[in-house]
Amino acid sequence: MSLKFRLLKPMKLDREYDVVIVGAGPAGLTAALYSARFMLKTLVIADDVGGTLNDAGEVDDYPGIPSIQGPDLAKKFESHVVKYKVPILRDTVVDIRRNGGGAFKVITKKGKEFVAQAVILAVGSKRRKLGVPGEDRLSGRGVTYCAPCDAPMFRGKVVAVVGGGNSALQAAVLLSSYANKVYLIHRRDKFRAFPVYVKLVTQDPKIELVLNHVVAEIGGEEKVEWVRVRNVKTGEEKMIELDGVVIEIGSEPPREFFQKIGIEIDEKGHALVDKEMRTSIEGIYAAGDCAAGPCKKKFDQVVTAAAEGAIAALSAYEYIMRKKSGEVETPTFD
Ligand SMILES: Cc1cc2nc3c(=O)[nH]c(=O)nc-3n(C[C@H](O)[C@H](O)[C@H](O)COP(=O)(O)OP(=O)(O)OC[C@H]3O[C@@H](n4cnc5c(N)ncnc54)[C@H](O)[C@@H]3O)c2cc1C
Repeated sequence: MSLKFRLLKPMKLDREYDVVIVGAGPAGLTAALYSARFMLKTLVIADDVGGTLNDAGEVDDYPGIPSIQGPDLAKKFESHVVKYKVPILRDTVVDIRRNGGGAFKVITKKGKEFVAQAVILAVGSKRRKLGVPGEDRLSGRGVTYCAPCDAPMFRGKVVAVVGGGNSALQAAVLLSSYANKVYLIHRRDKFRAFPVYVKLVTQDPKIELVLNHVVAEIGGEEKVEWVRVRNVKTGEEKMIELDGVVIEIGSEPPREFFQKIGIEIDEKGHALVDKEMRTSIEGIYAAGDCAAGPCKKKFDQVVTAAAEGAIAALSAYEYIMRKKSGEVETPTFD
Protein backbone atom coordinates (compact mmCIF):
# COMPACT_ATOMS: atom_id res chain seq x y z
CA MET A 1 0.00 0.00 0.00
CA SER A 2 1.35 3.45 -0.83
CA LEU A 3 2.29 5.69 2.07
CA LYS A 4 -0.35 8.15 0.94
CA PHE A 5 -3.23 5.77 1.58
CA ARG A 6 -1.92 3.87 4.57
CA LEU A 7 -4.09 4.56 7.60
CA LEU A 8 -2.34 5.20 10.87
CA LYS A 9 -3.18 2.44 13.33
CA PRO A 10 -4.06 3.68 16.81
CA MET A 11 -1.26 2.94 19.29
CA LYS A 12 -1.95 -0.31 21.15
CA LEU A 13 -0.68 -0.06 24.68
CA ASP A 14 -0.41 -2.60 27.44
CA ARG A 15 -1.68 -1.84 30.92
CA GLU A 16 1.46 -2.82 32.83
CA TYR A 17 4.99 -1.48 32.48
CA ASP A 18 8.23 -1.66 34.41
CA VAL A 19 8.69 2.09 34.08
CA VAL A 20 6.34 4.91 33.17
CA ILE A 21 8.11 8.18 32.34
CA VAL A 22 6.08 11.37 32.62
CA GLY A 23 7.36 14.06 30.24
CA ALA A 24 9.16 13.97 26.89
CA GLY A 25 11.67 16.79 27.12
CA PRO A 26 15.41 16.06 27.22
CA ALA A 27 15.16 14.43 30.68
CA GLY A 28 12.18 12.18 29.88
CA LEU A 29 13.41 11.12 26.44
CA THR A 30 16.90 10.31 27.73
CA ALA A 31 15.39 8.35 30.63
CA ALA A 32 13.31 6.44 28.05
CA LEU A 33 16.38 5.65 25.94
CA TYR A 34 18.35 4.30 28.89
CA SER A 35 15.36 2.49 30.37
CA ALA A 36 14.82 0.68 27.06
CA ARG A 37 18.52 -0.19 26.82
CA PHE A 38 18.22 -1.70 30.32
CA MET A 39 15.49 -3.90 28.78
CA LEU A 40 12.80 -2.40 30.99
CA LYS A 41 9.31 -2.32 29.54
CA THR A 42 8.89 1.42 29.21
CA LEU A 43 6.10 3.88 28.41
CA VAL A 44 6.44 7.64 28.01
CA ILE A 45 3.38 9.81 28.64
CA ALA A 46 3.70 13.49 27.72
CA ASP A 47 1.65 16.52 26.75
CA ASP A 48 4.09 17.20 23.95
CA VAL A 49 7.32 15.78 22.61
CA GLY A 50 10.40 17.96 23.02
CA GLY A 51 9.23 20.00 26.00
CA THR A 52 10.97 23.34 26.44
CA LEU A 53 13.28 22.55 23.52
CA ASN A 54 10.37 23.52 21.30
CA ASP A 55 10.68 27.13 22.55
CA ALA A 56 14.46 27.21 22.67
CA GLY A 57 15.33 28.72 19.27
CA GLU A 58 18.93 28.01 18.35
CA VAL A 59 20.76 25.65 20.71
CA ASP A 60 24.49 26.17 20.47
CA ASP A 61 25.73 24.45 23.60
CA TYR A 62 24.74 20.81 23.27
CA PRO A 63 28.03 18.91 22.97
CA GLY A 64 28.72 17.37 19.59
CA ILE A 65 26.08 19.47 17.80
CA PRO A 66 27.55 22.96 17.35
CA SER A 67 24.34 24.63 16.20
CA ILE A 68 20.79 23.31 15.91
CA GLN A 69 17.26 24.64 16.30
CA GLY A 70 15.59 23.45 19.54
CA PRO A 71 12.71 21.62 17.79
CA ASP A 72 15.21 19.82 15.50
CA LEU A 73 17.23 18.67 18.51
CA ALA A 74 13.95 17.45 20.06
CA LYS A 75 13.26 15.40 16.91
CA LYS A 76 16.71 13.80 17.21
CA PHE A 77 16.01 12.86 20.85
CA GLU A 78 12.61 11.46 19.84
CA SER A 79 13.90 9.39 16.92
CA HIS A 80 16.52 7.84 19.20
CA VAL A 81 13.74 6.72 21.55
CA VAL A 82 11.57 5.49 18.68
CA LYS A 83 14.54 3.37 17.51
CA TYR A 84 14.17 1.44 20.78
CA LYS A 85 10.43 1.07 20.16
CA VAL A 86 9.37 2.91 23.30
CA PRO A 87 5.76 4.08 22.91
CA ILE A 88 5.11 7.78 23.53
CA LEU A 89 1.52 8.52 24.50
CA ARG A 90 0.31 12.13 24.10
CA ASP A 91 -1.70 12.69 27.25
CA THR A 92 -1.44 14.47 30.59
CA VAL A 93 -0.76 12.54 33.77
CA VAL A 94 -3.12 13.84 36.43
CA ASP A 95 -2.36 11.52 39.32
CA ILE A 96 -0.08 8.72 40.47
CA ARG A 97 -1.41 6.44 43.18
CA ARG A 98 -0.13 3.43 44.99
CA ASN A 99 -1.53 0.28 43.49
CA GLY A 100 -0.63 -2.33 46.10
CA GLY A 101 2.30 -4.72 45.83
CA GLY A 102 4.65 -1.75 45.66
CA ALA A 103 3.47 -0.72 42.19
CA PHE A 104 1.94 2.57 41.04
CA LYS A 105 -1.20 3.41 39.15
CA VAL A 106 -0.60 6.24 36.65
CA ILE A 107 -3.81 8.05 35.71
CA THR A 108 -4.17 10.31 32.68
CA LYS A 109 -6.50 13.17 31.78
CA LYS A 110 -8.07 11.11 28.98
CA GLY A 111 -9.03 8.48 31.55
CA LYS A 112 -6.32 5.89 30.88
CA GLU A 113 -4.69 3.96 33.71
CA PHE A 114 -1.33 2.20 33.67
CA VAL A 115 0.46 0.15 36.30
CA ALA A 116 4.19 0.75 36.75
CA GLN A 117 6.83 -0.72 39.04
CA ALA A 118 8.67 2.62 38.94
CA VAL A 119 7.83 6.12 37.73
CA ILE A 120 10.19 8.84 36.48
CA LEU A 121 8.89 12.40 36.66
CA ALA A 122 10.49 14.61 34.00
CA VAL A 123 7.82 17.28 33.81
CA GLY A 124 9.99 20.41 33.53
CA SER A 125 9.41 23.82 35.06
CA LYS A 126 7.75 26.75 33.35
CA ARG A 127 9.88 29.91 33.12
CA ARG A 128 8.02 32.87 34.65
CA LYS A 129 7.02 35.58 32.24
CA LEU A 130 6.65 39.32 32.83
CA GLY A 131 3.23 39.36 31.16
CA VAL A 132 3.80 42.71 29.44
CA PRO A 133 2.88 43.82 25.90
CA GLY A 134 5.47 42.79 23.31
CA GLU A 135 6.97 39.97 25.39
CA ASP A 136 5.37 37.05 23.56
CA ARG A 137 5.60 38.63 20.10
CA LEU A 138 9.33 39.28 20.47
CA SER A 139 10.17 36.04 22.28
CA GLY A 140 13.11 34.47 20.42
CA ARG A 141 13.69 37.82 18.69
CA GLY A 142 15.63 39.47 21.47
CA VAL A 143 13.45 38.38 24.40
CA THR A 144 14.92 35.36 26.15
CA TYR A 145 14.53 33.49 29.41
CA CYS A 146 17.90 31.77 29.48
CA ALA A 147 21.08 33.84 29.84
CA PRO A 148 23.59 30.96 29.64
CA CYS A 149 21.86 29.77 26.46
CA ASP A 150 21.69 33.11 24.64
CA ALA A 151 24.44 35.37 26.07
CA PRO A 152 26.76 35.00 23.01
CA MET A 153 23.93 36.36 20.84
CA PHE A 154 24.38 39.75 22.53
CA ARG A 155 28.06 40.23 21.73
CA GLY A 156 28.68 43.96 21.21
CA LYS A 157 25.00 44.79 21.87
CA VAL A 158 22.96 46.60 24.52
CA VAL A 159 20.81 44.35 26.66
CA ALA A 160 18.63 44.47 29.79
CA VAL A 161 18.39 41.78 32.44
CA VAL A 162 15.16 41.75 34.45
CA GLY A 163 15.17 40.34 37.99
CA GLY A 164 16.83 40.73 41.36
CA GLY A 165 17.81 37.23 42.48
CA ASN A 166 20.97 35.18 42.02
CA SER A 167 20.05 34.08 38.47
CA ALA A 168 19.44 37.65 37.31
CA LEU A 169 22.68 38.96 38.80
CA GLN A 170 24.67 36.02 37.44
CA ALA A 171 23.07 36.72 34.05
CA ALA A 172 24.07 40.40 34.20
CA VAL A 173 27.68 39.49 35.03
CA LEU A 174 27.80 36.91 32.23
CA LEU A 175 26.24 39.29 29.73
CA SER A 176 28.66 42.07 30.59
CA SER A 177 31.46 39.93 29.15
CA TYR A 178 29.64 39.84 25.81
CA ALA A 179 27.52 43.01 25.59
CA ASN A 180 28.69 46.62 25.41
CA LYS A 181 26.15 47.63 28.05
CA VAL A 182 23.82 45.83 30.44
CA TYR A 183 20.85 47.41 32.22
CA LEU A 184 19.83 45.47 35.31
CA ILE A 185 16.16 46.24 35.94
CA HIS A 186 14.76 45.34 39.35
CA ARG A 187 11.46 46.30 40.97
CA ARG A 188 12.96 46.78 44.44
CA ASP A 189 15.81 48.91 45.76
CA LYS A 190 17.72 45.89 47.08
CA PHE A 191 18.71 42.60 45.49
CA ARG A 192 17.85 39.20 46.93
CA ALA A 193 21.12 37.62 45.92
CA PHE A 194 24.44 36.48 47.36
CA PRO A 195 26.64 39.44 48.40
CA VAL A 196 29.34 38.32 45.96
CA TYR A 197 27.01 38.86 42.98
CA VAL A 198 25.75 42.16 44.39
CA LYS A 199 29.37 43.32 44.64
CA LEU A 200 30.11 42.20 41.09
CA VAL A 201 27.13 43.97 39.52
CA THR A 202 27.63 47.18 41.48
CA GLN A 203 31.34 47.36 40.59
CA ASP A 204 31.01 46.47 36.91
CA PRO A 205 31.25 49.67 34.81
CA LYS A 206 29.26 48.07 31.97
CA ILE A 207 26.26 47.32 34.22
CA GLU A 208 23.79 50.12 34.96
CA LEU A 209 21.34 49.44 37.78
CA VAL A 210 17.73 50.47 37.13
CA LEU A 211 16.26 49.93 40.59
CA ASN A 212 12.65 50.46 41.70
CA HIS A 213 11.55 49.98 38.09
CA VAL A 214 9.39 47.45 36.31
CA VAL A 215 9.21 46.72 32.59
CA ALA A 216 5.89 48.06 31.26
CA GLU A 217 6.35 47.16 27.57
CA ILE A 218 8.86 45.64 25.18
CA GLY A 219 8.85 47.07 21.67
CA GLY A 220 10.37 46.78 18.22
CA GLU A 221 9.30 45.93 14.67
CA GLU A 222 10.96 42.63 13.79
CA LYS A 223 13.15 42.35 16.89
CA VAL A 224 13.57 44.03 20.26
CA GLU A 225 14.45 47.72 19.93
CA TRP A 226 13.35 49.26 23.22
CA VAL A 227 11.73 48.75 26.62
CA ARG A 228 9.45 51.13 28.46
CA VAL A 229 10.14 51.03 32.21
CA ARG A 230 8.08 52.48 35.05
CA ASN A 231 9.34 53.77 38.40
CA VAL A 232 7.27 51.92 41.01
CA LYS A 233 7.54 54.83 43.50
CA THR A 234 6.80 57.82 41.25
CA GLY A 235 4.96 56.20 38.33
CA GLU A 236 7.31 58.03 35.97
CA GLU A 237 8.11 56.20 32.75
CA LYS A 238 11.15 56.20 30.47
CA MET A 239 12.31 54.44 27.32
CA ILE A 240 15.56 52.50 27.03
CA GLU A 241 16.88 51.64 23.57
CA LEU A 242 18.44 48.19 23.43
CA ASP A 243 18.76 44.94 21.48
CA GLY A 244 17.61 42.34 23.95
CA VAL A 245 15.78 41.60 27.18
CA VAL A 246 16.84 38.65 29.33
CA ILE A 247 14.06 37.74 31.78
CA GLU A 248 15.39 35.95 34.85
CA ILE A 249 12.51 36.02 37.33
CA GLY A 250 12.42 32.34 38.19
CA SER A 251 10.41 29.35 37.08
CA GLU A 252 7.38 27.44 38.30
CA PRO A 253 7.59 23.67 38.74
CA PRO A 254 4.23 21.85 38.95
CA ARG A 255 3.91 22.20 42.74
CA GLU A 256 0.25 21.09 42.97
CA PHE A 257 0.88 17.99 40.86
CA PHE A 258 3.78 16.97 43.12
CA GLN A 259 1.71 17.67 46.24
CA LYS A 260 -1.10 15.51 44.90
CA ILE A 261 1.32 12.62 44.31
CA GLY A 262 2.67 13.17 47.81
CA ILE A 263 6.38 13.59 47.12
CA GLU A 264 8.41 16.10 49.11
CA ILE A 265 9.12 19.40 47.40
CA ASP A 266 11.45 22.33 48.11
CA GLU A 267 10.28 25.87 48.89
CA LYS A 268 10.05 26.69 45.16
CA GLY A 269 7.98 23.59 44.36
CA HIS A 270 10.68 21.39 42.77
CA ALA A 271 10.59 17.65 43.44
CA LEU A 272 13.24 16.97 46.09
CA VAL A 273 15.73 14.36 44.91
CA ASP A 274 18.94 12.79 46.15
CA LYS A 275 21.98 12.12 43.98
CA GLU A 276 20.30 9.03 42.52
CA MET A 277 17.27 11.12 41.50
CA ARG A 278 15.11 9.35 44.09
CA THR A 279 12.17 11.32 45.45
CA SER A 280 10.77 10.83 48.95
CA ILE A 281 8.55 7.98 47.67
CA GLU A 282 10.46 4.78 46.96
CA GLY A 283 10.04 3.85 43.30
CA ILE A 284 9.35 7.42 42.11
CA TYR A 285 12.23 9.37 40.55
CA ALA A 286 12.49 12.92 39.21
CA ALA A 287 14.93 14.44 36.73
CA GLY A 288 15.62 17.64 34.83
CA ASP A 289 14.25 21.13 35.44
CA CYS A 290 11.47 19.86 37.75
CA ALA A 291 13.94 18.39 40.28
CA ALA A 292 16.17 19.95 42.93
CA GLY A 293 17.98 18.95 46.10
CA PRO A 294 21.06 19.53 48.22
CA CYS A 295 23.08 16.97 46.20
CA LYS A 296 22.07 18.47 42.88
CA LYS A 297 23.63 21.61 41.45
CA LYS A 298 20.75 23.44 39.78
CA PHE A 299 21.69 24.30 36.18
CA ASP A 300 18.65 24.00 33.94
CA GLN A 301 20.11 23.01 30.59
CA VAL A 302 19.48 20.33 27.98
CA VAL A 303 22.71 18.53 28.77
CA THR A 304 22.04 18.38 32.52
CA ALA A 305 18.40 17.33 32.04
CA ALA A 306 19.55 14.51 29.73
CA ALA A 307 22.23 13.41 32.22
CA GLU A 308 19.73 13.32 35.07
CA GLY A 309 17.27 11.37 32.92
CA ALA A 310 19.96 8.73 32.39
CA ILE A 311 20.72 8.57 36.13
CA ALA A 312 17.02 8.27 36.98
CA ALA A 313 16.69 5.37 34.54
CA LEU A 314 19.67 3.59 36.08
CA SER A 315 18.25 4.09 39.58
CA ALA A 316 14.84 2.78 38.47
CA TYR A 317 16.54 -0.23 36.86
CA GLU A 318 18.50 -1.04 40.03
CA TYR A 319 15.35 -0.63 42.13
CA ILE A 320 13.32 -2.97 39.91
CA MET A 321 16.14 -5.54 39.87
CA ARG A 322 16.34 -5.45 43.68
CA LYS A 323 12.57 -5.75 43.87
CA LYS A 324 12.54 -8.73 41.53
CA SER A 325 15.25 -10.46 43.57
CA GLY A 326 13.21 -9.86 46.75
CA GLU A 327 15.82 -7.47 48.16
CA VAL A 328 13.37 -4.57 48.37
CA GLU A 329 10.65 -5.11 50.89
CA THR A 330 7.29 -4.52 49.27
CA PRO A 331 6.16 -1.27 50.90
CA THR A 332 2.84 -1.46 52.68
CA PHE A 333 0.74 1.46 51.52
CA ASP A 334 -2.19 2.99 53.29
C1 LIG B 1 13.69 30.13 25.78
C2 LIG B 1 14.57 29.03 26.28
C3 LIG B 1 15.76 28.77 25.60
C4 LIG B 1 16.59 27.73 26.05
N1 LIG B 1 17.75 27.49 25.37
C5 LIG B 1 18.58 26.51 25.80
C6 LIG B 1 19.81 26.27 25.14
O1 LIG B 1 20.16 26.94 24.15
N2 LIG B 1 20.61 25.29 25.65
C7 LIG B 1 20.28 24.54 26.76
O2 LIG B 1 21.03 23.67 27.14
N3 LIG B 1 19.11 24.78 27.40
C8 LIG B 1 18.27 25.73 26.96
N4 LIG B 1 17.10 25.98 27.64
C9 LIG B 1 16.78 25.16 28.80
C10 LIG B 1 16.28 23.76 28.39
O3 LIG B 1 15.32 23.88 27.35
C11 LIG B 1 15.68 23.04 29.60
O4 LIG B 1 16.61 23.08 30.66
C12 LIG B 1 15.34 21.58 29.25
O5 LIG B 1 14.44 21.52 28.17
C13 LIG B 1 14.73 20.88 30.46
O6 LIG B 1 14.36 19.59 30.09
P1 LIG B 1 13.27 18.75 30.94
O7 LIG B 1 13.13 17.47 30.22
O8 LIG B 1 13.66 18.75 32.36
O9 LIG B 1 11.93 19.60 30.86
P2 LIG B 1 11.09 20.11 29.61
O10 LIG B 1 11.92 20.25 28.40
O11 LIG B 1 10.37 21.31 30.09
O12 LIG B 1 10.03 18.94 29.32
C14 LIG B 1 8.95 18.69 30.19
C15 LIG B 1 8.04 17.65 29.56
O13 LIG B 1 7.05 17.26 30.51
C16 LIG B 1 5.75 17.28 29.89
N5 LIG B 1 4.76 17.39 30.98
C17 LIG B 1 4.69 18.31 31.96
N6 LIG B 1 3.70 17.99 32.83
C18 LIG B 1 3.14 16.85 32.38
C19 LIG B 1 2.07 16.01 32.82
N7 LIG B 1 1.40 16.25 33.96
N8 LIG B 1 1.74 14.93 32.08
C20 LIG B 1 2.40 14.63 30.95
N9 LIG B 1 3.44 15.38 30.49
C21 LIG B 1 3.80 16.46 31.19
C22 LIG B 1 5.85 18.40 28.88
O14 LIG B 1 4.85 18.28 27.90
C23 LIG B 1 7.26 18.11 28.34
O15 LIG B 1 7.20 17.08 27.39
C24 LIG B 1 16.24 26.99 27.20
C25 LIG B 1 15.05 27.26 27.88
C26 LIG B 1 14.22 28.26 27.43
C27 LIG B 1 12.94 28.56 28.17
